Amino acid sequence: MALIEIRDVTKTYPPARRGAEPVHAVREVDLSVEAGEIVGIVGYSGAGKSTLVRLVNALEPATSGSIRVDGTEIVGLSERRLQQVRRGIGMIFQQFNLFTSRTVYGNVEYPLVVAGVPREERHQRIVELLTFVGLADKAHTHVEQLSGGQKQRVGIARALATRPAILLADEATSALDPETTVDVLNLLRRVNADLGVTILVITHEMDVVRSIADRVVVMEAGRVVEQGDAFGVFSRP
Ligand code: ADP
Ligand code: ADP
Repeated sequence: MALIEIRDVTKTYPPARRGAEPVHAVREVDLSVEAGEIVGIVGYSGAGKSTLVRLVNALEPATSGSIRVDGTEIVGLSERRLQQVRRGIGMIFQQFNLFTSRTVYGNVEYPLVVAGVPREERHQRIVELLTFVGLADKAHTHVEQLSGGQKQRVGIARALATRPAILLADEATSALDPETTVDVLNLLRRVNADLGVTILVITHEMDVVRSIADRVVVMEAGRVVEQGDAFGVFSRP
């Protein structure tokens, strides 16, 4: 079975006010992601990409359909079980979502404290992770003093702290310049190849998916309208 199995999933937001239409953010989506893949989800703003990712990470409930993560059906799961599922999924964001007044070390440590990992083991993992992302010498630097690319490296280290099988990258390079984007994409390739993490890359930047994704999924108005390898999808008229 695939690592992520999305079957006939719909997410409808209620009308914002009386008389308004409900918003069908995700419509009847079917999508499977195999362990070890890097899958790109592309589409214009409003296509439903972020909503789909929030459903996979169980940050919001689906209106209907089935989502299996590593064999566990998450639609309708209790909050306690959902927390366990979320621990197996890391996320990185366009605006990094770091504690800017804390150090690099403190940011990577946070999810480990929440997960109840003892201090000694936390320390070992943090040193390993910071070495992996190339920030071992910045452990005690405050995040607000880092460049955008460095901040995203911290974001990646933090996301990997609990050793998730899946990394969801939501517009993770959209705030970075082209050179820094290439660096971060290279790091994500290493996360995939060396650590075996399955990665979903959500972006409106076609160049990004073309360069990194094994497979591309195109969304439009809440639906998956096309799937295939990057070459096939982008060479169509
Ligand atoms: P994308 O990530 O592709 O830009 P989104 O998933 O953010 O697309 O949005 C898809 C649609 O769902 C848009 O029409 C958006 O306005 C709507 N939407 C997203 N989140 C909410 C929400 N919390 N409440 C109501 N509508 C929402
Ligand atoms: P990016 O383009 O990825 O955001 P930059 O290297 O262009 O990264 O840096 C963004 C801003 O952060 C610049 O104004 C830069 O001077 C500043 N900056 C970068 N590194 C440091 C640092 N170690 N301490 C303080 N400011 C920094």
